[in-house]
Order: sequence, then structure tokens, then C-alpha cells
Amino acid sequence: MSHLEDLLTQMIRIPSVNPRGAGEPAETALAEFVADWGRAHGLETSLHEVADGRCNVIATLPGDTERPLLLETHLDTVETEGMTVDPFEARVADGRLYGRGSCDAKGPLAVFLTAMADLAAAGPRPQTVTLAGVVDEEHVYRGVQAMRAMDLAPFGAIVGEPTSMRMVTAHKGCMRCRITARGPGGHSSEPWGKTNPFDTAARIIDFLHGEHTAELDANPRPLIGPPSMTVTMIEGGSGPNVLPESVTMTVDRRTVVGEDPHAVWAELRDLLAARFGAQVEVAEPHVVDYALETDPADPFVSGFAGVLGAHGLDPAPKGVGHGTDASKIALDGVPSVVFGPGAIAQAHMPDEFVPLAELHEAHKVVAAALRTPFAPAIGGAL
Ligand SMILES: [Zn+2]
Repeated sequence: MSHLEDLLTQMIRIPSVNPRGAGEPAETALAEFVADWGRAHGLETSLHEVADGRCNVIATLPGDTERPLLLETHLDTVETEGMTVDPFEARVADGRLYGRGSCDAKGPLAVFLTAMADLAAAGPRPQTVTLAGVVDEEHVYRGVQAMRAMDLAPFGAIVGEPTSMRMVTAHKGCMRCRITARGPGGHSSEPWGKTNPFDTAARIIDFLHGEHTAELDANPRPLIGPPSMTVTMIEGGSGPNVLPESVTMTVDRRTVVGEDPHAVWAELRDLLAARFGAQVEVAEPHVVDYALETDPADPFVSGFAGVLGAHGLDPAPKGVGHGTDASKIALDGVPSVVFGPGAIAQAHMPDEFVPLAELHEAHKVVAAALRTPFAPAIGGAL
């Protein structure tokens, strides 16, 4: 077994399931393993508590630039219930390595660590490289937010996620909130003259999916298309013969770059207040995330595309539907791309796996990227 496969196997065998708010140090055993492994392979490593004993791990390999190239990925995984393969065995079969986190995202993490260890052992270091393994990506992104607060000031970032070896430069953000329509209630045999909140809900859905969506459609972005608004859940009523007092809808609003999800929420609240008045209440958003739109012409991004092309991979930028930590890193003006072995279709699945051929190819790509001088060296221009 190669060093890379061996490292990934060891990391899959250390469970790091996101506790989704329960106060458990879920990823810390893995963070400690990464810190120890990195130190043994010539990297400067440290742990940083984010919350509840949960730690990010930072590993640095100094090179010829002051500002680092950031390799970022997450330590946590989703749950293992219902898996059809042993989540923590890391079994190899048919050229695949199976297990929870094999592609999302311990595969990319193993690739990053191995490429940094190669460089520590031998070779030019045209830039400082900093790896951040962060907690809580699968829940509310506290790990990446804590990392941003460290002010690492990277000149570019590669975020490790399964992208089937493509360079992802764009994805949407989102805002989810609940909208409640209210009425006076009463006996359903005497509905006359009373507001039925189902009627209000029907008019709201008609507006959101019709007129409002048409407005959103007018603002499409390259690679990912326009923002969208979808009512995804609805609940209401208390009995078959009771006029309902309330109906609550959940909306899933996908955002594009330039839209602040909090501002999107405030606009929706004001819009519905103006149209439907006090009978409608829009609760604070329970999920917000930012969109990513990295300029493919940025020198770091086009440089990384060049590395992909040199390995016979498709260098064209790609947009995806799901969110990543890259959009939070990009909020600080850092050109950020997402890259890694394995397919997003395999992430979170009952038989999650990473193809070994892609794992090894990703290692070659990242190792080559670390040897590519992307940024002006300290004390001298390129
Ligand atoms: Zn992931």
C-alpha cells in the first residue's frame, strides 16, 4: 500500500462525525493525528480550539513567500447511519477505497498532507504553504470562520472537496427561513368572512414562484445560472374541521455572488410585508451561506488551471450546486478554487468511496502546484 493510501486509511479509522451542535470534541482526535503526522514529516503544526473542545489543525511549510498558499479542507464527516459499507474499516476493493470521509473530505486531506510532506523532504519551495484542517463544515462552518479570524492572509486557496478532478470556481450560497401566514381560526363550518391562512400561503407561493422568480431569472451568473426561490416545506392546520390559525412554509433561496444572504432575507421580509401585511411573518433565517465566484483570469487561478492542463485534466473552470468553505475564504478577497478526487455524488452516500486512481492523480497535481511559483518571492519579483 502506498504512503498516501496508508495515510487515508488511518484517517478514515479515526471517526470524526459532526455532532451537529452537541457539545462533543468530535474532530479533535483526527486534528491531533494530523498535527502529529505533520510534525513527523517536517511541518510546523498547531491545534486551535474552535468550540466545545473541537480543534482546527494548522500545518505550515515555510517557503519563499511571506503570504502562504492555503490548502483548506474539513475534518468532519456526515453521519454513518444506513451505510452499506463499514464506515471506519477503509476497505479497498475494485480500485476504490471505501469509508465515511473517503472522498468528503479525508481523501483531499491525505492528498494535501502527502504533497506537503514530499516538499518538506526535498525540492524547491517557491511559496510558503499552509494547510488548515477545520471543523464543522458539514453544519454551520464554525471551523472556517475561526480560521478566517487567524488572519493567515493567503494569496490563494485550494479547498479540498470531491470535484471529480475539476477546478470549481463558482457555487451558489443560500438563505433559508420560515414564513408564517396567520388567521383568526374558528369552526370550519362557518368560514365566511374569515382569512384562511392557506389562501394567503397559496398567494405567497404563487408570487414567489411566479413574479418573484421571474425577477431573479433576470440576473444569471456564469457557470451557475440565476438565483432561485423555492418553497420546500409547508405545515399547517390542527384538525379536519378546524379553520387553521397558521400555515408555515420553509423557503430555500439560492444566492449568487453580490447578494448578501442577510440582506436577501430583509428584502423578502419587506416585500411580503408590503404585499400581505401583518398577517404574514417572516422569521429570521435559520441557514445562511455565501456564494463563490472566483475570477478565472486571476494569476493564481489560471496558474492552477495550467497545472491541471499539464496533467491531462480539464482546466476549464466549473460551477457546482453545493456550498463549500471556499466562499467564506473568498469573502476576505482570497482567490479560491475547489479541487479534489472523488465525486460529489459519492459524498454523504451509504457506500462512500474514492477511486484510488484519482487519489494518486490528485496527489501529483497538488504536489506540482506546490512547486509552481504562483506569487512573487520575498525580496524579488518574478
Ligand atoms: Zn465536504
